[in-house]
Amino acid sequence: MRPADELRDAVPRPVWWDGVQTGPRSEPLTGRQRADLVIVGGGYTGLWSAIEALTEHPDRRVVLLEQDWIGAGASGRNGGFVSESLTHGIAHGEAMWPDELDELQRLGRQNVEQIAELLQRHDVDADLRRCGKTTLARTAHDADALRAAVATYTRRGEDVRFLDRDEVRADLHSPAFVGGLRISGGGLVDPMALTHGLRSIAEKLGAAVFERSAATGIERSGAGLTVHGTHGRVDTAQVVLASNAYPPLLRRLRAWVLPVYDYVLATAPLTADQLESIGWAQNQGLTDAGNQFHYFRRTRDDRIVWGGYDAIYHFGNAVHSKLEQRDASHRVLAQHFRQTFPQLGSLPFTHRWGGVIDTTSRFTPIFGTAYDGRLAYAVGFTGLGVASTRFGAQVALDLLAGRLTERTRLKAVTGTAVPFPPEPLRWTAVQLTRAALAREDETGTRGVLLRILDRFGVGFNS
Ligand SMILES: Cc1cc2nc3c(=O)[nH]c(=O)nc-3n(C[C@H](O)[C@H](O)[C@H](O)COP(=O)(O)OP(=O)(O)OC[C@H]3O[C@@H](n4cnc5c(N)ncnc54)[C@H](O)[C@@H]3O)c2cc1C
Repeated sequence: MRPADELRDAVPRPVWWDGVQTGPRSEPLTGRQRADLVIVGGGYTGLWSAIEALTEHPDRRVVLLEQDWIGAGASGRNGGFVSESLTHGIAHGEAMWPDELDELQRLGRQNVEQIAELLQRHDVDADLRRCGKTTLARTAHDADALRAAVATYTRRGEDVRFLDRDEVRADLHSPAFVGGLRISGGGLVDPMALTHGLRSIAEKLGAAVFERSAATGIERSGAGLTVHGTHGRVDTAQVVLASNAYPPLLRRLRAWVLPVYDYVLATAPLTADQLESIGWAQNQGLTDAGNQFHYFRRTRDDRIVWGGYDAIYHFGNAVHSKLEQRDASHRVLAQHFRQTFPQLGSLPFTHRWGGVIDTTSRFTPIFGTAYDGRLAYAVGFTGLGVASTRFGAQVALDLLAGRLTERTRLKAVTGTAVPFPPEPLRWTAVQLTRAALAREDETGTRGVLLRILDRFGVGFNS
């Protein structure tokens, strides 16, 4: 069977949307409203901003504007890997902020702990499982790198264990892997259930949510700001911009954030025999170790969600719903899945989708203010925002309040990313970097271009 044929029956939407309410549930913004805080963007960053702001000041009037519906963006379509890292992994943190990495690790662990507590307190069933993950090596050079990484993880307080070829295959029955690193921190969540849960908490606390309500512009008005929409506007004291990789209302963000598309497949539920044939008894999250990595995990009903590998940038920072389907990327994913799990034969793919990732050149979000401190932004989570968006929302609120905290003192927060060049250089630079990363995956050798970029703390990743 050709891969193109086997994808024919896959529905073009995230598997996480099955059996749950999708689409807008609230009215669009009309007329003129007043608020203390307007949040632009109704993904995790915006929802956490609402929850944190209202927890701190329950009397605040908080208005959240979402151009589509809550969950339509990355937050309703991601892999659901819950990472404790605020630095896009320990190795990257070690390279970028070695002096404050212990502090970042502590804050990252505390962040996940507090997310779990909040979900429990509000009775949100988002299938959060603190099961950790295993990073898998497909090549001997990746296995060597994982073995060498144990010392760094351990020094930074992480509980990890290197798995040799036999140990990896005893856990996951696949001929594709020759080593692994079992990491106990973090876990998995149902991303759409998390989005629904956060929305319900935000609304319970008093947030006014408006869907189908794009913010189209921001201007000063008196001592505050006015956020304009298509059919209404809000006068407000403060704004949080939580708009991910979508065209930003603040021009400067275009230089720092690159929209990169990531693609995903989901299979039909596995039978008991099929599950037994692949092992995976710990049901943890799995990724492979390369630059172009796959991530995979099981759903509540034992489908396999299989995503990653390609990271596709479209000329001119293009973001559009039609880019959420890409035959070439979905076919490559299907082919790699068959190679990884030959024993599953022609297990059907039932869902195919994609989503946009807000990538920065330093792989971690950027924070800052505009309009004399009345607007704060937190964007650029670079494919690792399921948990860290809560930290990002807290930073944005710290900045609006003008307070120095353990968060806003960090260089990882105050520093900025190297800007991406304007087009057409931007597109060319991305293609050259992608090719260099693919070469490194094959050869295990970091080429000249990547070594130069490393020196400036610059990369390209999903
Ligand atoms: C396919 C995929 C897999 C991923 N897997 C993982 C993973 O396993 N683990 C992990 O940690 N991270 C993962 N991520 C990243 C993670 O999903 C994001 O970092 C996180 O969801 C970002 O949340 P957000 O609120 O900033 O963005 P979003 O969820 O995209 O929310 C931003 C919202 O802003 C709205 N918006 C934009 N502009 C405006 C405007 N002008 N007016 C009104 N609304 C506006 C958008 O419509 C959107 O709903 C993945 C991402 C994708 C796409």
